[in-house]
Amino acid sequence: MAVKRDYYEILGVSRSVSPEELKRAFRKLAMDLHPDRNPGNPEAETRFKEAAEAYQVLNDPDRRRSYDMFGHAGVAGAGVSGFEGFGFADIFDAFFGGGFSARDRARSMRGSDLRYDLTISFEEAFRGVEKEIEVPRLMTCERCSGAGAEPGSSVEACGSCGGSGQVRRTSQSIFGQVVNVSACPSCHGSGRVIRQVCTACRGQGRTERTKRLKLRIPPGVDTGSQIRLTGEGESGLQNGGPGDLYVVIRVRPHALLQRQDQDVVFELQVNVVQAALGDRIEVPTLDGLVEVAIPAGTQHGQTFKLSGRGMPQIRSGRRGDQFVVVKVIVPKDLNAKQKDLLRQVGGLTGKPQKVAKGFFDKLREAINLD
Ligand SMILES: [Zn+2]
Ligand SMILES: [Zn+2]
Repeated sequence: MAVKRDYYEILGVSRSVSPEELKRAFRKLAMDLHPDRNPGNPEAETRFKEAAEAYQVLNDPDRRRSYDMFGHAGVAGAGVSGFEGFGFADIFDAFFGGGFSARDRARSMRGSDLRYDLTISFEEAFRGVEKEIEVPRLMTCERCSGAGAEPGSSVEACGSCGGSGQVRRTSQSIFGQVVNVSACPSCHGSGRVIRQVCTACRGQGRTERTKRLKLRIPPGVDTGSQIRLTGEGESGLQNGGPGDLYVVIRVRPHALLQRQDQDVVFELQVNVVQAALGDRIEVPTLDGLVEVAIPAGTQHGQTFKLSGRGMPQIRSGRRGDQFVVVKVIVPKDLNAKQKDLLRQVGGLTGKPQKVAKGFFDKLREAINLD
């Protein structure tokens, strides 16, 4: 076990510190080590426990006297005990009156967020679309308005907590006087006692129902885009707000066009003659067919840009471009006449034939044919 640090040193106070100063010093230190400010920081937790133990001892006049005379030996067994299995926040709450648990409880009453996956077509992503979706979800029970009690039956304030939903327990065991606030075990924090539970929701206050929702999908959405519908998640419990609904978009691929962010790519297949002589060809775009002029001598892989024919940006509406990538298709399975014609074409140019011959001659030499 590590050597224990001096309690006064831990709290950064002098040995003559007054009870008020001691309290102030501890509070200040504790706020710095607050679990919310130090999420998942085991060092802050260790330091807080150390500070709490120091405060626990020095705040008790008898134990402080004993510590001043005999040091740690005089207060053997001191420590923040009785918290095994509790989180840092719970321990913190025990010292400061449970404000944090109360807030956490309120949070847990909020309805859950929901996710809905929606698939739309490429064209719908381009133009935007209005969709109607059906979302099954837990909603406030209509029969009892979320109270959980059968209509007409009496709902009484809980006798254990007087209707507050909280029980305050004052204990001396931690240090000084500590007020511990927790949910009332009799009414589970609701503050009410239901004599006859609602038959529709069995006292839960919510039932599963399907709601139809109209949804506007803006132009330009892509696979993975999320649309948040605030308050359209599950209803909360006991005045807790509803959760949100997240609609997650998937865009079906297009048969001819490929999307790259805001741009669209189209592969245009042309034959050798079109590539060599040039041609005017209609290509599909998001706006319909558009004529593209392929100049004479177009090479395989050459790309032409159709400005402003891409997908719109969701916010600005500004459209990307379409890129037309040329793929030259070389003919296969030619008949004798076609081959002859091609040879004539080749003969006309002259030069390539010579180059080809020289190339094959060299190849023959290299691999010792003939
Ligand atoms: Zn009900
Ligand atoms: Zn109660």
